[in-house]
Amino acid sequence: MIEMPENCTECGCGLSWASDTCPKCGCYVGAPNVREVCVEREALMERYNEAMDNNRNRGCESNTKAFAEAVAKDSVAVINFWPQLLLQFLLDTNALYANYENQVRAEIRRPAQRKNDRTRSGTVGTLFGEYGKDIRCAALSLDGIG
Ligand SMILES: [Zn+2]
Repeated sequence: MIEMPENCTECGCGLSWASDTCPKCGCYVGAPNVREVCVEREALMERYNEAMDNNRNRGCESNTKAFAEAVAKDSVAVINFWPQLLLQFLLDTNALYANYENQVRAEIRRPAQRKNDRTRSGTVGTLFGEYGKDIRCAALSLDGIG
């Protein structure tokens, strides 16, 4: 298993799991979500191999390989927008994309309905914790449709 570095390689200071910089010397230590996923790489590879074995046993290995190759070669990241928001985003050359958490925090949008807001906040918290505010999620699409 690949371990997430716990100390800065430059100064030896203990690192925060949620930060991309060393708290002492300020050097870049890598995006926390990427560092976190490195730990899961081995388990993900095991799941992939199990799925490939399963597909091989069911006689659909070539379809799975073709899909994996298409995703690797042709997929694009897509984010869905409301048409009005997309128009505003495209017309304003200074517009930046902000995720839900940062839009609410910056008071440029209201929170969603209570249930949806709690679901969103809970999901982001469960998946990413403190650095969830810095994550911009997108889906991979083979046809560009979200
Ligand atoms: Zn350091």
